[in-house]
Amino acid sequence: MRENAVAENNTVVAVNGLHKSFHGNAVLKGVDLHIAPQELTVLIGPSGCGKSTFLRCLNCLEIFDQGKISIGDINLERTSAQAPLDNQFHAKVRQLRINVGMVFQSFNLFPHLTVLQNIMKAPMVVRGVAAAQAEAAARELLNKVGLSTHVNHYPSQLSGGQQQRAAIARALAMQPKVMLYDEPTSALDPGLVDEVLQVMQKLDEEGMTQIVVTHEMRFARDVADKIVYFEGGEIVETAPPEQMFSAPKDERTRKFLKRFL
Ligand code: ADP
Ligand code: MG
Repeated sequence: MRENAVAENNTVVAVNGLHKSFHGNAVLKGVDLHIAPQELTVLIGPSGCGKSTFLRCLNCLEIFDQGKISIGDINLERTSAQAPLDNQFHAKVRQLRINVGMVFQSFNLFPHLTVLQNIMKAPMVVRGVAAAQAEAAARELLNKVGLSTHVNHYPSQLSGGQQQRAAIARALAMQPKVMLYDEPTSALDPGLVDEVLQVMQKLDEEGMTQIVVTHEMRFARDVADKIVYFEGGEIVETAPPEQMFSAPKDERTRKFLKRFL
């Protein structure tokens, strides 16, 4: 946690009145969330409450129905699910995706590429970075996530923890303004969880803005600037970890956290 992380009137991610339904089933019911640069925000909540949908809307893997999303200087707004999606909207979606790094539970590395190639690919294809420059940057990132001795390995030759660290390096290679993680350690053997959490902690210390969906409550308590409790497609409560874990205000939060404490 960074002492200077929380700054008023200074947001890198601003979400207002976000709604998303699937086939008439309302999954996000008006989510508001503002995140300052360098903050680490942990999202917790029961299965099915909309955490993944929220992250997927934030980087436009799903197009939200209604509300506003601002990330950096990209602003997206929709008034309803029927609002037409014009070329200008899609152009902004592409810009926004470049600004948002996403890490999934299931690593999602390209199996036919080495670790180094996995990390070089997007900057070269999407940003037009030259190969030599992309390789130098990739090696630096792999060093940061502790994989400098595995650059020429294929994903299948790595442990789950190593694959996830490579996936983080791959997302970082696009120089995102914010990193999103959807249960990044849930598919890992217990012994491999910490090496991934440590990378996220190190990125926090370096000032990366991060939003993490996780059930790792110790990590949430020790590293997060704020915890957001989600239930039923809404934010029930937001608080710094010390308050969230010792004196949650809402009965629903208390009930959920009981299972972990
Ligand atoms: P969480 O990540 O908190 O477990 P999700 O965001 O994955 O929750 O899911 C919230 C609800 O939205 C669930 O009821 C799920 O079935 C539904 N849902 C998520 N994605 C889709 C989709 N692509 N199509 C239809 N329903 C979906
Ligand atoms: Mg989920």
